[in-house]
Amino acid sequence: DDATRLITELTAIVEDFPKPGITFRDLTPVFADGPALRAVADALVAPWVGKIDAIAGVEARGFLLAAAAAYSVGLGVLVVRKPGKLPRETISESYDLEYGSTSLEVQPADFPAGTRVLVIDDILATGGTLAASSRLIERAGWQVAGISVVLELDALNGRAALPGRDIHSLQRV
Ligand code: 5GP
Repeated sequence: DDATRLITELTAIVEDFPKPGITFRDLTPVFADGPALRAVADALVAPWVGKIDAIAGVEARGFLLAAAAAYSVGLGVLVVRKPGKLPRETISESYDLEYGSTSLEVQPADFPAGTRVLVIDDILATGGTLAASSRLIERAGWQVAGISVVLELDALNGRAALPGRDIHSLQRV
């Protein structure tokens, strides 16, 4: 389809970023292209229309996609933020990075209990980020209806970190 073709055409592959040996897939040319951004945002939300109440974006690239997808279907955005950014009562979930760890936060007061949430990010790599985001959403009293990503890096087996989750990736590489 259109979204998949545009992702293949526009994604920039950068060797040795952010460090030697890593192949980084840069989606900024997809975000830069009007028809591509629209096709991608629509495709991310399409399987979930009628089954979700809100769309969560993971800081920062997930924000762009979640906002576009939410706007296209008339839903609101739930922000999953890096630590220290949200001013009211937050809950926080830590997860491991390659070196050390970090955390993500949400504000439970922003949506009512039981809200069905679609979680969006740009790339599913090891799955750590989306696993932490999903745990956080459930701890806040909401439901994870599903997960959508633009690209899934098969070699990193991120699905293994997300057992039982319904994952929609627009392209697997
Ligand atoms: P994970 O927690 O699944 O290992 O990593 C996912 C996070 O790292 C995502 O938020 C994603 O933005 C970022 N990431 C990992 N690999 C890449 C990559 O090749 N390109 C881009 N753009 N982001 C990546």
